Amino acid sequence: MNEERRQEWLANRRNYKSSRTAIDLFEKIISGDKIALSCGITLLESSLKKDQDLAKELLNLCLPYSGKSFRIGITGVPGVGKSSFIEEFGKLICEKGNKLAVLAIDPSSEKTGGSILGDKTRMQYLSVLENVFIRPSAAGKTLGGVARKTRETILLCEASGFNYIFIETVGVGQSEIMVHSMVDFFLLLLLTGAGDELQGIKRGIMEMADGLIITKADGENVKRAQYTSREVKNAIHLFPPTENGWIPEVLTCSSLNKIGLVEIYDLLDKFYRHTQLNGSFDFKRQNQEKYWMHETLKDLLFDGITHAKGLKELIQKMEKVVSQKEFSSFEAAQLIYSEYIKQLVNAKD
Ligand code: GDP
Repeated sequence: MNEERRQEWLANRRNYKSSRTAIDLFEKIISGDKIALSCGITLLESSLKKDQDLAKELLNLCLPYSGKSFRIGITGVPGVGKSSFIEEFGKLICEKGNKLAVLAIDPSSEKTGGSILGDKTRMQYLSVLENVFIRPSAAGKTLGGVARKTRETILLCEASGFNYIFIETVGVGQSEIMVHSMVDFFLLLLLTGAGDELQGIKRGIMEMADGLIITKADGENVKRAQYTSREVKNAIHLFPPTENGWIPEVLTCSSLNKIGLVEIYDLLDKFYRHTQLNGSFDFKRQNQEKYWMHETLKDLLFDGITHAKGLKELIQKMEKVVSQKEFSSFEAAQLIYSEYIKQLVNAKD
């Protein structure tokens, strides 16, 4: 972004900040205004009470306009070529007349405040396209908190007319499971050299994938990529069948030479038609809603218990006895829970 555009953008943003109401933002968001969308997401991420109230109102307004997108999770170890792929594949998606939002979940930000995904200039060509919206990783103290914000961000992007949503994450474990439970299609990028690489990616993550792409299939790497592709096909052949009747496919691609991208687009299309036709697309989304309701409930309960007056000491004591194996963790948790319920009942009396 050049300086002139940056100043214009900042001025616009200040404008939005001073005169915003939920209905005002909502109208701008559904008309496709990207600055309004950014402001809306910032509200979702804010920890200020007044922002949270506004965000809740905004979400409720946007909810009826959400849901009409194809949500795609993209994962792979750092260096596998995620940003290069998203840059090239994203361009292809836009050329086909779609609107694309790219969101990121970065597990490293939880611990360090830094990020694996955000530390370099990423997707610089994609980011200037009119039909693209890129939002860097949501910050949050817990993965659960980040998940909530990301899911709400998806809803706002959908209300704003983005019909393809990419959710990118790094292939290091916990965050994949979370992303998998908020997307329709889960794409795993793999490097060549199956033997070593497959060991680096947990089997569980491979089992979740609807599509597996061997990246950097160019130059001297082409043969190795084809070999890896065969190895991966053999490996996933042994996985249990999926509930929706979809058989995961393995493809190779080169973002550098723009090879294999159309095939991936066709694969997504095929999946979309397959799952729409047999009803599993909606079924999965309904299950995901239930899953997140349960997860949120767990978080709320956990928050309630750990912040309850007088339970802090008991929890600390239990942590100690559990680590010294004087109590089982199960028993200790039950004891804390009973104490919490007792407190609630007493408070009522
Ligand atoms: P990320 O960390 O997964 O986002 O990976 P990047 O997209 O940043 O790519 C890591 C490195 O691989 C960079 O040096 C890229 O230039 C290189 N790379 C990415 N895609 C390709 C490709 O298709 N072919 C080749 N030869 N290199 C690639």
